[in-house]
Amino acid sequence: MTTAAPSRPVPHPGVLQIEAYVPGKAQAGHGVKVHKLSANENPLGASPKALEAFRDAAALELYPDGSSTRLREAIGGAYGLDPARIVCGTGSDELITLLATAYAGPGDEVVYSQYGFLIYRIATLAAGATPVVAPEHDLRTDVDALLAAVTERTRIVYLANPNNPTGTYIPFDEVKRLHRGLPPHVLLVLDAAYAEYVRRNDYESGIELVATSPNVVMLRTFSKIHGLAALRVGWMYAPAEVADAINRIRGAFNVNAPGLAAAGAAIADTGHVERAIAHNEEWLPRLTRELTALGLTVTPSVTNFVLVHFPETPGRTAPEADAFLSARGLILRRMDGYGLPGALRLTIGTEEANRLVVAALSEFMKNGNGLMGEGHGS
Ligand SMILES: *Cc1c(COP(=O)(O)O)cnc(C)c1O
Repeated sequence: MTTAAPSRPVPHPGVLQIEAYVPGKAQAGHGVKVHKLSANENPLGASPKALEAFRDAAALELYPDGSSTRLREAIGGAYGLDPARIVCGTGSDELITLLATAYAGPGDEVVYSQYGFLIYRIATLAAGATPVVAPEHDLRTDVDALLAAVTERTRIVYLANPNNPTGTYIPFDEVKRLHRGLPPHVLLVLDAAYAEYVRRNDYESGIELVATSPNVVMLRTFSKIHGLAALRVGWMYAPAEVADAINRIRGAFNVNAPGLAAAGAAIADTGHVERAIAHNEEWLPRLTRELTALGLTVTPSVTNFVLVHFPETPGRTAPEADAFLSARGLILRRMDGYGLPGALRLTIGTEEANRLVVAALSEFMKNGNGLMGEGHGS
């Protein structure tokens, strides 16, 4: 050997291009009640039935069912799907990563939209593949731009519909147009983490397209409307060959037993889902209207969160609003990691939290952060 081996273990180059995912903050100053509005969690919490199933599944010495059989059957029953084509994951995040691992590697390209969910980039680089970013207009997925980014090296297109962090969606006709424009070897991954929240006649999560196409996968999660983010359970509906590939590489016991039990109970509790939808239907338009009336720009959302854009005026910028709100126990999500430093993402919270946010931002927009004219502008 003439080339010197490194003196210590070195990860492959893609790994070192990853900026580790920064989760939404969960803490504020001492002594203030915290309202975590930074991770799109369900303000109503989990279904009481899911909580009960979680407690009953506390035989911690036993391995879980490695095939998630009962949960896949419950999901299949609820949506009319073949359980053999469902794979459960440690959150849908795990499935995003496993799809990249199985279908893309060095020399391959993976396409996603400019403000697409950050995990797509991490999964792509971790697989050793090359991320290719398609530009957006008005913070909305642009199908023509996605198609223009596809080359013969493309292996996967990830599309969050609706998207996080923008909250926008594209009509299903547009998704079908995207699918029609893809070569048959490209896997289209439809990430429908917020599907239950969408109230639009031209929206579909993608179930039918998966059923009729050999190259489309749909991802869903129990973390958002079902309020089970702590347990890390997601699932995908996929062509049989894709399900087979993921089953070969996933962890043998990837979903934990309390998670399996709670998710099964959650999917049966349609009343809880309806309550979460009703709460969101009341507060999404209301928060959008009230924040807009304060002079803020709110990207129209179909999800359980809104992207709020702040002025560039010193004293009223997004980082200053973040500090102002955090001091009052209101934790929003900074968007610097997405290239949107002028915006904060706000999850629809409890009635109490929502009212506090509007009151605090009203004060902030009137008086700024209280430090103006004291040389704190930068
Ligand atoms: C929250 C979210 C997910 C899922 O998260 P898990 O908790 O890993 O299931 C997937 N995609 C998008 C776009 C999300 O916002």
